Amino acid sequence: MTLAASPDAPAIPLGGPRLPQERRLTTAIPGPRSQELLARKAATVAAGVGHTAPIAAVAAGGGVIVDADDNSLIDLGSGIAVTTVGNAHPAVVQAVQEQVAQFTHTCFMISPYESYVAVCEALARVTPGDHAKKSALFNSGAEAVENAIKIARKHTGRPAVVAFDHGYHGRTNLTMALTAKSMPYKAGFGPFAPEVYRAPVSYPFRDGLSGADAAARAISVMEKQIGADALAAVIIEPIQGEGGFIVPADGFLPAIAAWCRQNGVVFIADEIQTGFARTGAMFASELFGVVPDLITTAKGLAGGMPLAAVTGRAEIMDATHTGGLGGTYGGNPVACAAALAAIDAYENEGLIARAREVGDILFSRLQGLGDPRIGDVRGRGAMVAAEFVDPATGDPDAATAGALARACIAQGVIVLTCGTHGNVLRFLPPLTIPDPLLHEAMDVLAAALAALPAQEA
Ligand SMILES: *Cc1c(COP(=O)(O)O)cnc(C)c1O
Repeated sequence: MTLAASPDAPAIPLGGPRLPQERRLTTAIPGPRSQELLARKAATVAAGVGHTAPIAAVAAGGGVIVDADDNSLIDLGSGIAVTTVGNAHPAVVQAVQEQVAQFTHTCFMISPYESYVAVCEALARVTPGDHAKKSALFNSGAEAVENAIKIARKHTGRPAVVAFDHGYHGRTNLTMALTAKSMPYKAGFGPFAPEVYRAPVSYPFRDGLSGADAAARAISVMEKQIGADALAAVIIEPIQGEGGFIVPADGFLPAIAAWCRQNGVVFIADEIQTGFARTGAMFASELFGVVPDLITTAKGLAGGMPLAAVTGRAEIMDATHTGGLGGTYGGNPVACAAALAAIDAYENEGLIARAREVGDILFSRLQGLGDPRIGDVRGRGAMVAAEFVDPATGDPDAATAGALARACIAQGVIVLTCGTHGNVLRFLPPLTIPDPLLHEAMDVLAAALAALPAQEA
């Protein structure tokens, strides 16, 4: 029994950019068909797997997600920065359909095929730096991060890894250790992988430090508490994602990268959330003038198909013995075909410029709210956040951020929260969202914020 099978169900539309680009509420959220699915979910899906919007999605494209009750919600999340080229992008759909009819899997480690190689060629072309590069492909961001650490350890012969306050790198054992926030990512799931250390990041809104001073503070921790001789890698998101869309002060990342270079430490940029046009550059590292030794990518890479990569300096990537890297599904041919179509779209459909336009609208609308509960509006390109605070104390205000996100979703606008304190609303719409929908979403948000009591909870 599927959602479509009941006789009075609305016809399920095809996704992609031809979906009507409108916010349309035909029922309360969740409507009856969505409620039916959520009841089945509660009965059979493990409780640990949560959801943000209580809907049953049936189609998506442009800037909307349509649910089983024929509601059309404005999408400001892109499935966490994944469908940056737009959901069901026509070229991605065609590439997937052609490849899936050709072959679905051989295992690249058994019988190699061209699309995997072509994705690695494309990654060498689009990632920062003009040095010789090589790549290896995986299924998820966490898996890419795990492999970047494996490669850095093998290359340096050193054990330790430094990650940063507010950092997020995934949910597997090593990446949980790298991730800063306990609840919900780590609580009760230890013990965690050893030889992972944490350094303070640059968080201008909270620490008021210059980039140089914040870098000096982090470098002191690395030198005094670990020692460069023990340190294989430093891993950092150029703009932190789950941690709150934290943009470091100018000079912070170049100083950390320079210290790594001087000390033979592999500098890894985790661009899983920031990569592929999201920040108004192909990669956020470019915005800060840093060329990482290794870069991890996933989310935006393949237009919604599961694919991830580690790309970096050829001499580091080649440090590993043959057979040391891989996985049954890594670089699946259907995902690779999708990635080639998506990368073509990033390069040839003006999406980098579009990310800046989307960001300009979000920035001016959020700043224009002039609400004292919004302590900071920050981000780059179409990766924009508003941090909610108690206006009297500046303390994080997660209650307002959460209540606002829930109110927006009830009004047909999907927004996500983030931040170590859960007090940040993040906006990362698909770059195919039309301007009028963006403005309508911001109108909904403004009205919902105005209607919220000054202090919930
Ligand atoms: C999402 C994310 C990951 C983990 O990716 P998964 O595909 O969920 O495993 C790692 N690093 C960053 C910066 C991310 O945003």
